[in-house]
Amino acid sequence: MNCLICHTSYNPMVSWRHFLTLEKADCLCSKCRNAFMRINGEICDMCGRPFADLTSHRQGRLCTDCVRWQEDDEWKDVLTKNRSVYMYNEFMKEVVAIWKFRGDYAMAEAFQEEFRREFYRHFDHTFLIVPIPLSAERLYERGFNQAKALAELLALPIHDILTRHHLEKQSKKSRRERLRTENVFQFSGKMPLQDKHIVLIDDIYTTGTTLRHAAKVLRQAGAIDVSSFTLVRS
Ligand SMILES: [Zn+2]
Ligand SMILES: [Zn+2]
Repeated sequence: MNCLICHTSYNPMVSWRHFLTLEKADCLCSKCRNAFMRINGEICDMCGRPFADLTSHRQGRLCTDCVRWQEDDEWKDVLTKNRSVYMYNEFMKEVVAIWKFRGDYAMAEAFQEEFRREFYRHFDHTFLIVPIPLSAERLYERGFNQAKALAELLALPIHDILTRHHLEKQSKKSRRERLRTENVFQFSGKMPLQDKHIVLIDDIYTTGTTLRHAAKVLRQAGAIDVSSFTLVRS
């Protein structure tokens, strides 16, 4: 077998469990598999960032970034919590880049087992699964949406109830400024959200701005609460 990431030929470990459950053998070589860094131990209650090497950016159970979001009346409690599977280490940076470049859904398979297991540690099947969409322009360019590929790993119904418009580059305001003020997401209105708990799915949580914008639209449309689950926490 050839590793899905580094293409090295390897002998997959096939155990009795694989025979008994017809589970597929790992599609990654052990070197790649072990290079992922799972998030373990104590984390920020809100954004899921590990506290391990964080002493100064912490206030009680929250990191200072989340404290700042909570102090802002416009953003307080918009996103209930975020949980992520892996740290954004050098290896993960490479993997995400390769995945974007290859532009396919196949690589998501490498994350399936841990993505699913972590999801059920924090959420359950009663949550509405909503992948973060790409704009039509970006989807055309890239050919696939990583967030949707990840959402499909959960084998739960997926609800494409958000659309996203494209931020034109030629603008007087800086991109950063526009990201803060302008909401690129719209609720499609396809279903009533009253009494719904939602989990947004995305590849990466960086500043949390994108996820909060999406969450805000869904909260305004009536959702009780909106959380997020991402493959990576940078
Ligand atoms: Zn490999
Ligand atoms: Zn935090």
